[in-house]
Amino acid sequence: MNSACLIQVRGVVQGVGFRPFVYRLAKQHGVSGWVFNGEDGVTIHAEAPESVLAVFIAALKTQAPPAASIAAIEVQPAEANGAAGFAIHQSERHNKPTVRVSPDLPVCEQCLQELFDPTDRRYRYPYINCTNCGPRYSVILALPYDRPNTTMKAWPLDAYCDAQYHDPANRRFHAQPVACPQCGPHYLLNGDNALKDHAAIARTVQLLRQGQIVAVKGLGGYHLACDARNATAVNALRERKYRKEKPFAVMVKDVETARGIVELSSAAGTLLTSVARPIVLAAAKADLPGVAPENDELGVMLPYTPVHHLLFAAGAPEVLVMTSANRSSEPIAYDEQDAFERLAGVSDAFLVGERPIARRVEDSVARAGAFGPVILRRSRGYAPGAVASLPIDRPVLAVGADLKSSITLVVDGQAFVSQYIGDLDHYQAFQAFQETIRDLMSMYEVSGDDVLLVHDAHPQYFSTTYALSLPAAERVAVQHHRAHIASVLAEQCEWERRVLGVSFDGTGYGDDGSIWGGEFFAGSVREGFERVAHLRRASLPGGDAAAQHPVQAAAGFLAQIDGLPDVMEAPFNFPSRYQYAVELVRKNVRCFGTTSIGRLFDSVAALLGFTRATSFEGQAAMWVEALARKSASSASYRFPFESGELDFRALLRAVAEDRKHGLDPRDIARAFQRGVAQGLSHVIRKLCSERHLDTVVLSGGVFQNDLLLSDVRDWLHGQGLTIWTNHAVPPNDGGISLGQTALAAFLCNNAK
Ligand code: ZN
Ligand code: FE
Repeated sequence: MNSACLIQVRGVVQGVGFRPFVYRLAKQHGVSGWVFNGEDGVTIHAEAPESVLAVFIAALKTQAPPAASIAAIEVQPAEANGAAGFAIHQSERHNKPTVRVSPDLPVCEQCLQELFDPTDRRYRYPYINCTNCGPRYSVILALPYDRPNTTMKAWPLDAYCDAQYHDPANRRFHAQPVACPQCGPHYLLNGDNALKDHAAIARTVQLLRQGQIVAVKGLGGYHLACDARNATAVNALRERKYRKEKPFAVMVKDVETARGIVELSSAAGTLLTSVARPIVLAAAKADLPGVAPENDELGVMLPYTPVHHLLFAAGAPEVLVMTSANRSSEPIAYDEQDAFERLAGVSDAFLVGERPIARRVEDSVARAGAFGPVILRRSRGYAPGAVASLPIDRPVLAVGADLKSSITLVVDGQAFVSQYIGDLDHYQAFQAFQETIRDLMSMYEVSGDDVLLVHDAHPQYFSTTYALSLPAAERVAVQHHRAHIASVLAEQCEWERRVLGVSFDGTGYGDDGSIWGGEFFAGSVREGFERVAHLRRASLPGGDAAAQHPVQAAAGFLAQIDGLPDVMEAPFNFPSRYQYAVELVRKNVRCFGTTSIGRLFDSVAALLGFTRATSFEGQAAMWVEALARKSASSASYRFPFESGELDFRALLRAVAEDRKHGLDPRDIARAFQRGVAQGLSHVIRKLCSERHLDTVVLSGGVFQNDLLLSDVRDWLHGQGLTIWTNHAVPPNDGGISLGQTALAAFLCNNAK
């Protein structure tokens, strides 16, 4: 006697080979019925004896395709109607889509085997893919995810591909981007039809080996590639790209090559080979001149498109610089016209794929950190995955912060976080920001008039001004550092839990209009967060602009400390900008109050020798961290806490005096970092015990510093405290939009 049930599978289950998987599983277990893609996932009608159904349902979860991510499986009894066999039905479409769009996927093992099999029709074909792999988000023009709604719509399937596309037993059943050399797009070098696919790749390899710079079209944009072991090529790339010091990522041939250039822990190896294939930061072993100057870490990624594999197989240098094709701080170039215009004079050649990219998606950056994986830039392979379920029915749009921008759209309670957009003070990034809002809103068919629109409290943020110009059902501002804390709690779906939230950050607009960034909060997402302690306030001449000049921050912080050595003299040799800033502080002109830990790190960087301007955000703090990592010292400076304030004066005095006395800057940096961790841990213990809290949340850009995190972990070990950090969104401002949505949901009393 057959039973029947209706199975609803939610999560990332479309465009990842889920229906063919269900089909094969049903055949295997003798289950009859059907499966189809609905708006909110995959729906299965299954008929079989009770015991078989149980096994079938269990296998749905345990044997799901690698790229699928199941959020929930709901089973309801249904009427058995004696269905014979198992079928895949057409997609259903009645309401607005809330289905989750799959992130882009790396080429799978089976496709790789075919790619290098001379007897295969798709031998050396750069656009090989199947339902288990290939482009998704970067080719989707609209939902539902069907071929006419992708950038592959211009290439009709030939008989061979069509047969595979319609065969439920085939790996390419409903693989929307499926193609072969006969019917699909190609790669060309410099638009030359004589240099197509393998010929183009072979020629590219020659150029790379000669030390040339080639723009290579990937999944979500163009990369600039060159031989990472060729210092002349690397330096030429730096000069042409106007990128003085910011590290370049490298792509390595395989995991073995990665092991040769970085210390690859097992956690880092897991990240490196994970389905998102991010750039993984790990301690550098090899010296690659010019690739990551003054940095003890190297960003490494594996090949993820067929083109990358073809390049290495054709003999490309085993370590390639693969950096976003743009000039410094602009978003990645993703269409041909744009690439040719912006990269003229930067790249020597263009390896161009014909398949258009629907939207730019940069490489993601991650690290295996002291508290688990940390995503520093969330983009390809992760976006636009839903990262949280919020208890709110109405749509919410949060526009994030201005640096490392991302936006979050909540539809039916699912929080979809966009890819990394960039810094909005760059015109191109601001354009990309507006495009991304339009893009996500139209993909999920959300109308501006219905949204709860959330922005930062900073009145001068580009994102704030833009949000105020958009239509909305309701608008609300959320304070920056509370959003950081809420981003961690949103990842955990913890709305009631009362926590101590620590936001150590570079900058952010505080309740009092000053620049915050060293804040302690008590509360929950539901009840809100009360500021309960902070870094002692310093004056910051020039305000946020001081972030580019560590000596400017130092002028404000050191002004509160008497009897310091003269920093205009050796070994400090501060430039005259410092004296100018000191004047501003003395006259209190163009000065802002700040409690920013980021600026405290900048001040220490200046005292230890980083007296020039920075060329990218967070550079001085990263420099201090790298310096500290080279020390074996176990010393720690005092960072006392009194009347709700962490007092930096003893800390900075110790740094200045030890430097004056000729101590090794590496040991000073180490003692400073340990002092910060110790001071922080002391405050955490004190506030948690006073307020009966047992959970601590750490978020904000400063917590990208993994040495600081591991020190804090050591100091808090065995204290009975639970420590939460970000894992799904970045601890930097890339996570702000998620936190904004969570707080707004409760602030506006809309949460269930
Ligand atoms: Zn595949
Ligand atoms: Fe921040």
